[in-house]
Amino acid sequence: MSKKGKILVLVSPSGGGKSTMTKRLLNDFDNIRFSVSATTRKPRTGEEDGVHYHFLSKEEFQERIDDGDFLEWEEFYNGTLYGTLRSNVEKELEKGYFILLDIEVLGALNVKKIFGDEALAIFIQPPSLDVLKERLLKRGTEDVQTLETRIDRAKKEMAYANRFDNVVINDDLEEAYSQIKELVTNFITQ
Ligand code: ADP
Ligand code: 5GP
Repeated sequence: MSKKGKILVLVSPSGGGKSTMTKRLLNDFDNIRFSVSATTRKPRTGEEDGVHYHFLSKEEFQERIDDGDFLEWEEFYNGTLYGTLRSNVEKELEKGYFILLDIEVLGALNVKKIFGDEALAIFIQPPSLDVLKERLLKRGTEDVQTLETRIDRAKKEMAYANRFDNVVINDDLEEAYSQIKELVTNFITQ
């Protein structure tokens, strides 16, 4: 590959479907690489360090902020930090890969500010807050308090939908994925 790559961003409230769509895109496109973020939250069952996230202590995360290692970073809830590592992104872009970010709204807005038309940001919208809550409950990854915090935040995040390049409603999974796949195909072949 000779061409310099571009950025793909999937953005949504927690539980909107980013991980699900990410998995499918990585499976369908061999020129897309996942940007493994850093976070201070604890790993969930099945999550591997360096694969799903780089799991850092607060001190380690702060050091990396001070060293300027993040392209963007945000506090998601109660002091829990998440950030995109600059080196990962730059390395893959140089190789000509498209790099896929699964991040929340404020980080995604920052990425759009930095990369403009070199980034495609798709907002994945759940059909309703009730459905979102149901899906988060069913996923079973959050305790009651974290779940409530995520839902509260989701209410605010939904208002940002039209700030992104496209909005895809994730009601029927196959339908939503096929829309995302088409948007991604158009972007990476243009
Ligand atoms: P996010 O990564 O945005 O937090 P996930 O991809 O983990 O969201 O999705 C949250 C939960 O909802 C997961 O358990 C996933 O399997 C489920 N899910 C995602 N999309 C749909 C859909 N269209 N219909 C039903 N369940 C879905
Ligand atoms: P979770 O704890 O569910 O994995 O992630 C919580 C939220 O943080 C999700 O909306 C996820 O997309 C977002 N997130 C993950 N990595 C990053 C990152 O590097 N930067 C930003 N801004 N948000 C991120």
